[in-house]
Amino acid sequence: MTQTLIQLDGSLGEGGGQILRTALSLSMVTGQAFRIEKIRAGREKPGLLRQHLTAVNAAAEICGATVEGAAISSRELTFSPGPVKAGQYTFTVGSAGSTTLVLQTVLPALMIAKEPSSLTLEGGTHNPHAPPLDFLEKAFVPLVNRMGPTIHLNLERAGFYPAGGGRFFANIEPEPKLTPLHLPARGALKRQLAKAVVAALPGDIAKRELAQIEKRLGWTGEQLQIRQLPQEWGPGNILTLEIESENVTEVFTSFGMKGVSAEAVAEQAFGEARRYLACDAPVGPHLADQLLLPIALAGGGSFVTYDLTEHARTNIQVIQRFLLVRFEVIERKPEVCEVKISA
Ligand code: ATP
Repeated sequence: MTQTLIQLDGSLGEGGGQILRTALSLSMVTGQAFRIEKIRAGREKPGLLRQHLTAVNAAAEICGATVEGAAISSRELTFSPGPVKAGQYTFTVGSAGSTTLVLQTVLPALMIAKEPSSLTLEGGTHNPHAPPLDFLEKAFVPLVNRMGPTIHLNLERAGFYPAGGGRFFANIEPEPKLTPLHLPARGALKRQLAKAVVAALPGDIAKRELAQIEKRLGWTGEQLQIRQLPQEWGPGNILTLEIESENVTEVFTSFGMKGVSAEAVAEQAFGEARRYLACDAPVGPHLADQLLLPIALAGGGSFVTYDLTEHARTNIQVIQRFLLVRFEVIERKPEVCEVKISA
């Protein structure tokens, strides 16, 4: 099964955890073993953190891999995969580390497997610097489902940084032959919604965040929603702006933090939504870097986006170490580009 050992440099491009996660995903899918050195060399605390270690162990469990270097702070890892076994699994990040990034690591192999899977993921569900669960549910998963699989996510309990303690379930009905995805335009605007969520924090924070969104985006009435979560899930506060169009839903999130005013939290999400609304590209920067791998697995597809990040460009380089795919980034207007992926 294992033919070659792909050598990866973890300091490539932005030098973050995505290099490792993409390598794990594609090693599971292709059966190719890899060795990575200088893991997360571009980060303040390099090496494997809990989230990355959980992703390594999750990937290894699903495909019976032989692994060397799977330990906290490790900067080198060798991963030799076996055959992927769909089924029931529980993965726990023993901190508020991101469970959504763990899911995204193992999802590619499971969504093209022969049998269905059901996963339970425990830890952080709404973390800064990772896709919040709402983003996966509303933006990422519907697009992946359009390519063939049927993935359902179900949140039991939110887990905020730093306490964690969240849990969600992922049911995956796979489709071994993915259909290419093309997203040239977002289509007509259907719905815009701001959700301010608080747990174990005063409801006034949520009110002030929504007042700021009303002031800046002119959204009113049912477009502004407050959700007070159970006290024991907190403390936590997030503001989510959903922009649903005919062909795609985009989600922009900002996180409440100690010492940051509710208005400043709202301004951050507003800034991202304004940028999206000001151009007509369907895909925002986070969705762009996350769609690369599924589309590459389908052997083709395209999308229009803006501000293609260093994260996305690094991801393209890692994908090309495992799959014979071509990426073209074609400038359509200043800062707006089309990403074309072909076999
Ligand atoms: P690290 O080395 O710390 O693990 P990383 O490379 O894993 O770094 P990031 O570059 O910060 O981490 O991003 C991880 C992933 O989370 C990316 O796919 C990014 O698009 C996604 N992400 C981060 N913030 C958001 C957000 N607010 N909404 C959606 N996705 C997000």
